[in-house]
Amino acid sequence: MPLLGHHAFITGGSRGIGLACARALLADGARVTIAGRDAASLERAAAQLSPGVATCVLDVTDEAAVQAAVAAAARQLGPITILLNNAGQALPAPFAKTSSRHWQQMLDVNLTGAFHCTQAVLPQMLDQGWGRIINIASTAGLKGYKYVSAYVAAKHGLVGLTKALALELASKNITVNAVCPGYTETDIVQDAIANIMRTTGRTQEQARAELAAGNPQQKLVQVEEVANAVAWLCQPAASAMTGQSIAVAGGEVM
Ligand code: NDP
Repeated sequence: MPLLGHHAFITGGSRGIGLACARALLADGARVTIAGRDAASLERAAAQLSPGVATCVLDVTDEAAVQAAVAAAARQLGPITILLNNAGQALPAPFAKTSSRHWQQMLDVNLTGAFHCTQAVLPQMLDQGWGRIINIASTAGLKGYKYVSAYVAAKHGLVGLTKALALELASKNITVNAVCPGYTETDIVQDAIANIMRTTGRTQEQARAELAAGNPQQKLVQVEEVANAVAWLCQPAASAMTGQSIAVAGGEVM
């Protein structure tokens, strides 16, 4: 139980990677708050996890809502010492058809959301003299992909924020790292498969195989594999790991 006494705040904790991370951090002894936009799916997720899990309805793009939710979570379960900036969205579009609204939405959710949450939580970590900030970026934060330029730009920004903040907080006992999954078996990948089927006429199996083909292990990453990396970075023993961007992608990026 290496995380006993810690409170982890997980954005996008209602499903996919965030939910798997909640499960892993609970197993390591942390108290957990899961946050997202939809109260009903948060309640369903909390019921699957454990009776003590708290839920928070917020949109990470709304700074005031984030500040209020973080304060409420700390009142309920104590100071937050672990922040998982996981909420994200990947909308595809060829660059020529990427509107400025689409561009802004990808930056708001995938990059500015992490900025808002980190600003809200950091004072609590500084007060506690200990913290773990983990940004779920993507292999799209480390290399390019076609037809998702706004998402790729936002995730590269998140990797940059990780590095800069790691340096600022290095002497404060607070580590900041990015975990960068490759295509992972969640709703985001189901949407990508549906998009490939719609735009190319491929079958579901063909579309799925196309995504898996980019991974040298020839498979989609599983959410537990991402959660395992996150849980390890949260451990007190990982204190010398900071400013890193760790790909969980079967060797797609090295
Ligand atoms: P899912 O779509 O399964 O889950 C996304 C989660 O984020 C949901 O809980 C959703 O809840 C929440 N969310 C989305 N937008 C917001 C918002 N504006 N404010 C608050 N919560 C929000 O996604 P994944 O689990 O696949 O993705 C999690 C993270 O991992 C994302 O950052 C994604 O970019 C990244 N990633 C995913 C990969 C993949 O292949 N799946 C690969 C690489 C990175 P709700 O909609 O109810 O708000």
